[in-house]
Amino acid sequence: MKVENSSFIPHPSSLGFGRWLDWLYPPRCRFCRASVFDADECFCRSCRERIRRVTHPLCPSCGRPFLDTSGDDHLCGKCIARRPHFVRACAWACYPTEDGEEHPLREVVQRFKYGRKVSLGKPLGRLMAVDCREFFDERALDVILPVPLHPKRLRWRGFNQSVILAREIGRRPRLLLAAQPTRGLDPGATRFVIEQVLALRDAGAAVLYVSTELEEVLAVADRIGVMCGGRLVGMMWRDEADLGRIGLMMAGALDETPDAERLYGVRG
Ligand SMILES: [Zn+2]
Ligand SMILES: [Zn+2]
Repeated sequence: MKVENSSFIPHPSSLGFGRWLDWLYPPRCRFCRASVFDADECFCRSCRERIRRVTHPLCPSCGRPFLDTSGDDHLCGKCIARRPHFVRACAWACYPTEDGEEHPLREVVQRFKYGRKVSLGKPLGRLMAVDCREFFDERALDVILPVPLHPKRLRWRGFNQSVILAREIGRRPRLLLAAQPTRGLDPGATRFVIEQVLALRDAGAAVLYVSTELEEVLAVADRIGVMCGGRLVGMMWRDEADLGRIGLMMAGALDETPDAERLYGVRG
């Protein structure tokens, strides 16, 4: 492809690492290849709308949803006839089993499971973790165990898909301390790290992100604390961040040591 006017190419510094790479390699829907906003998004909006999420009313034991959407959760006929050995199962979404109809979720799950497309595990696992948040939030899970595969099947398939999904679902720490997490990394790796941090924040984790890279801090932080000489000398919300003021604080020329209310208070 010949680019006639190089002024159309944005400079990396004008977009930030992540957006620059997205401009260069636009992320695509894993089913229809339409553009999506984020590289970890599995499906575009129209494909997502075709996926039927499991919603209430459902069977609280096996997790199956009912076709009749009126009424509350209740045990299904199968679980009344014979209670399963587990306490509760949670299903994420449904797709048609007939081979004639192309369906985004079935296609991507089959490519992941049988087509050795290991890279699909991360976006799929994230989607599951987000959509099943209610289930996880109700329980304090101690351990997440993937369903083991028979060694023969593992050799044939090359990987256990439930390990990859479980890894994504299990990434729900409540607190992350990250000190200079992108130091020495190339732009692609930096972008990956920042996306992981933002995903954790969106999943409800508290994140303390320590960095000397101001641009990075402004991209990641909701609230910014400035340190100088081992002391906290300023605290501000991102939308009130002033680079000149931050610079002076970092250099020790300005001290706006926050009081307890500003440090711990909830924004009004
Ligand atoms: Zn799509
Ligand atoms: Zn049931």
